[in-house]
Amino acid sequence: MSSSAFSPSTRSWPLLEARRSTVAELQESLRLAEREEFGIRVVEVVGAFDVLDRANAVESRDSAMLRAEVLSGNQLQIEHAMQRAVEGRYGLCEDCEDQIPGERLDAWPEATRCVECQRRHELSPGS
Ligand SMILES: [Zn+2]
Repeated sequence: MSSSAFSPSTRSWPLLEARRSTVAELQESLRLAEREEFGIRVVEVVGAFDVLDRANAVESRDSAMLRAEVLSGNQLQIEHAMQRAVEGRYGLCEDCEDQIPGERLDAWPEATRCVECQRRHELSPGS
C-alpha cells in the first residue's frame, strides 16, 4: 500500500463536521436549559433554608458552567483540526509531525497531536 492510500483528511472530514454540529447543538441546549433554569435557580438559592439545598443549587450552576467550558474547548479543538485539514496537515502531529495513528483519529477525530505529544502538552500547557 502506498502512503497516499491513507487519506485521513477526506475520511475524517465528515466526522469532524458531525462533531462540530453535535457540540453546537449541546451548546444551544445548554444555553436554553440555563435560561429556563435561571428563574428556578434563583428561587432555589434564595428560598433554600437548608444549607444542603443551597449547596446543591450552587453546584448545579457550577457544573453547567463547567460543561459550557468543556464544550467551548471541544469546539476550538474541532475547528483547529478542521483548519489543519484545510491546510492539508490533518493527521500529522503538530508537535513532532509524525502521522497520528488512524485508530486515534477514529476515536478522536479532532486530535492534532500524537499520544506522546498530547501527554507532554497536557503536562506543560503553553509550551
Ligand atoms: Zn507528536
